[in-house]
Amino acid sequence: MSNCAIVGINWGDEGKGRMVDLLTENFDLVVRYQGGGNAGHTVINDQGKFALHLLPSGIFRKGVVNVLGNGVALDPENLLKEIEELQSKGVAVTPENLKISDRASLLLPWHRDLDELEEQRLADKKFGSTKQGIAPFYSDKYQKKTVLAGELLYPDRLKTHLADLMEWKNLILTRVYNAPAYTMERLEQWVNNFANKLKPYLCDTGALLAQAQSQGKSILFEAQLGSLRDLDYGIHPYTTSSNTTAAYAPIGSGCPSVKIPQVLGVVKAYSTCVGEGPFTCELFGDEAEALRQAGQEYGAKTGRPRRVGPMDIVATRYGVEVQGATELALTKLDVLSGFDKIRVCTHYLVDGQQTERFPFPAALDAAKPVYTTLPGWNCDISKVRSWEDLPKAAQDYVLFIEREIGCPVRYISVGPERESIVIRQL
Ligand code: GDP
Repeated sequence: MSNCAIVGINWGDEGKGRMVDLLTENFDLVVRYQGGGNAGHTVINDQGKFALHLLPSGIFRKGVVNVLGNGVALDPENLLKEIEELQSKGVAVTPENLKISDRASLLLPWHRDLDELEEQRLADKKFGSTKQGIAPFYSDKYQKKTVLAGELLYPDRLKTHLADLMEWKNLILTRVYNAPAYTMERLEQWVNNFANKLKPYLCDTGALLAQAQSQGKSILFEAQLGSLRDLDYGIHPYTTSSNTTAAYAPIGSGCPSVKIPQVLGVVKAYSTCVGEGPFTCELFGDEAEALRQAGQEYGAKTGRPRRVGPMDIVATRYGVEVQGATELALTKLDVLSGFDKIRVCTHYLVDGQQTERFPFPAALDAAKPVYTTLPGWNCDISKVRSWEDLPKAAQDYVLFIEREIGCPVRYISVGPERESIVIRQL
């Protein structure tokens, strides 16, 4: 099997976790290469139902080595909670099946504080942050004001480095936000209680991946969030603070020269979006509630109701382009089974002009969706396992999307369980 990245095509929550869980069977290593624990991948398999936040979704497969690359926001507190939760449900998480890059930066306790303080300051102009400290973390990383996980193995250096960072951070906390200052005692406690417990998992994951490559092993790269939340290509400034695109996988994994010939883009059969920012196809009122209920669209991390709308071809085509997706998984098709007619947004109207091109972020506020309506199939498809058994109207819906987007749909999911999947022979 050649290397593959599994990425989100839209605003996130497309069901990437279930696709990684399904496909890990064919891979030796699974790598998370960006983002933090600020979103969730839901996985339902023979071991139970799990909400993963930072751990790679390959953690359930025996023999698969899971890697947290240098590009992730390594939050020791939350990661340990996640590890303990899985272990309490009988899932093995050990230094053998989890490897953490010594070059990953640590998300420090003040990152969470600053996230919260800044959202409070912004009040009704807030970004809708999950307040997990991700934006302050990545800002600090680019300022070179973070600590690398590997420094935990050099306690004297760590202490000096933390003291220097604390001096600077306290200026911001106390003078800008009028918040309490940190002390070294508090930081040392945090290091002992949380960060140090990750030491057994640390390694040079670059060397590990290079060796795996030379042995012909195959690597699956797992992304968090989707194209439209990418720092450079998304709906700025309502993006996340890292690159969610497949192109970042080599950098964020620890193996900058790795080739990734397959990019599986995960697309939901309709649109959802958590948090603030333009969302052209948004539905409101009863129509929105019906779709939200049908799809159980509530955030895995925060429980927040997701904003919902019809499939947005304009945004999805753009999402496929920036990911360089070679094939697609269309998820949650079963959710549309109860609807007589299904709308799909094929174009936007921007300043009276019809466009198929996803607009520049500042132009999105003025964009209006242009819909076409397709017939529904009005029957339960959750037990369907082959393309031929899908009702004709469901097949036509998939084929319409495939044609409009210009990328083959290989997988169609019809339920959250691992086996609820139709695999097309293309
Ligand atoms: P991710 O972050 O991209 O992995 O996506 P999330 O886990 O946040 O959201 C996907 C949600 O949809 C989860 O609750 C999944 O269990 C659920 N899900 C995934 N695929 C399907 C499907 O085909 N049908 C239904 N009904 N639910 C699904």
